[in-house]
Amino acid sequence: MKHNLSFLIKVLALQCLAVLCASQGFDFFYFVQQWPGSYCDSKQGCCYPRTGKPASDFSIHGLWPNYNDGSYPSNCDPEAQFNPSQISDLTSRMQKDWPSLSCPSSDGLSFWSHEWEKHGTCSESILDQHDYFASALLLKRQSNLLQILKNAGIQPNGQYYSLDGIKAAIRGGIGYTPYIECNVDPSGNSQLYQIYVCVDTSGSNLIECPVLPRGKCGSRIEFPSF
Ligand code: 5GP
Ligand code: 5GP
Repeated sequence: MKHNLSFLIKVLALQCLAVLCASQGFDFFYFVQQWPGSYCDSKQGCCYPRTGKPASDFSIHGLWPNYNDGSYPSNCDPEAQFNPSQISDLTSRMQKDWPSLSCPSSDGLSFWSHEWEKHGTCSESILDQHDYFASALLLKRQSNLLQILKNAGIQPNGQYYSLDGIKAAIRGGIGYTPYIECNVDPSGNSQLYQIYVCVDTSGSNLIECPVLPRGKCGSRIEFPSF
């Protein structure tokens, strides 16, 4: 009887630890890039940043901590508010690689603040605010998705391309299979909106995705110009 009780206490203690660890940690990141042409070519439309029309290139949406079961933590630390002075050395690169296209026109600060507070605070034990944004910028440079697609003859010219062809081209270019998210243009055509790749918990290395988001593209999707 005494034996059983101490066993039970040990099991309970271990379970508590497991719950604590799970609530503080995460298993991997999604690194998500958006195609500006598809963000704009939709019912919601877009507004160019105050600094002008962004380059015709994929841009960063976010670096999102995720669990292997497909769920994800969010808004993990209300105390850790976004502080632009911590990323002043990164701002000009962020304006180029992480522009905000939502309306009204902005300088990106509110988009970056949203991404930090919703997602970045959940990987704070590994990446502080500066390193969180710096990691995302480095990841974008590590995989030039537009060049990889162009090399495979897949260009942002309003034509339709097979979803499998897009995935295969990226797998060939970076060594890992991406997840492709589509949105629809105002006429309801499915188009290439976002590309997800997976990153280990250090925020530096691409990995095979442990789990993919759910969603639906057509088997052939449009790649609009921008
Ligand atoms: P939506 O509902 O438009 O797919 O996603 C809205 C927002 O929820 C995303 O921009 C992102 O902040 C978050 N989100 C959606 N799916 C995932 C996911 O699979 N993992 C994580 N970490 N965040 C997600
Ligand atoms: P998430 O979907 O990651 O939760 O965050 C998207 C939020 O950021 C939305 O509130 C959206 O209005 C805002 N946002 C600002 N600029 C952009 C942009 O360029 N792309 C996307 N997808 N969302 C943006």
